[in-house]
Amino acid sequence: MQDRRYVFSWDLIGNLDIGRPNLGPMTRLEVYRLMQYAFRDVIERHCGTVKTDTIFYESGYLAGQEFYKQFFSHIKDFAVFISTVQATLKDMGVGILRVEKADMEQKSFVITVSEDLDCSGLPELNYEVCVYDEGFLAALLDSFTGEKFVVKEVDCWCTGDRTCRFTAEVVG
Ligand SMILES: [Zn+2]
Repeated sequence: MQDRRYVFSWDLIGNLDIGRPNLGPMTRLEVYRLMQYAFRDVIERHCGTVKTDTIFYESGYLAGQEFYKQFFSHIKDFAVFISTVQATLKDMGVGILRVEKADMEQKSFVITVSEDLDCSGLPELNYEVCVYDEGFLAALLDSFTGEKFVVKEVDCWCTGDRTCRFTAEVVG
């Protein structure tokens, strides 16, 4: 296999104090969505719909693992973990996360994200679009618990709901 050029590293986020002295760390959400939905279009043309969703899930998963390492890996208590994730996602303008149902015995969760970065305000479509978020949330849960979760979006702004709702179930 060819040497990898694009292995992710948090260094690629860059030093924003040096790099953006005037503009700072914020950008317009249109620009983020423009990039995401352009990627989706082109990747689907190259790879098909199923593979595109796999790529988005896995990318979200990788991002979630790196995000966990960066911000949450020192936390031991589950309630503290969830409240810190909530505060971080709100501060960074990602979305408003709530845990609707937490069954610690069965390791089964229902998580909602309102005002979601990826989908809130989109037209109604007949499918959920937050595949990246599915992978992202799965990685956060896996990283904290050391188990393997599968996360599935069951309600989305795009399916007529006003919040995105995800089920998270432990597998294996
Ligand atoms: Zn959604």
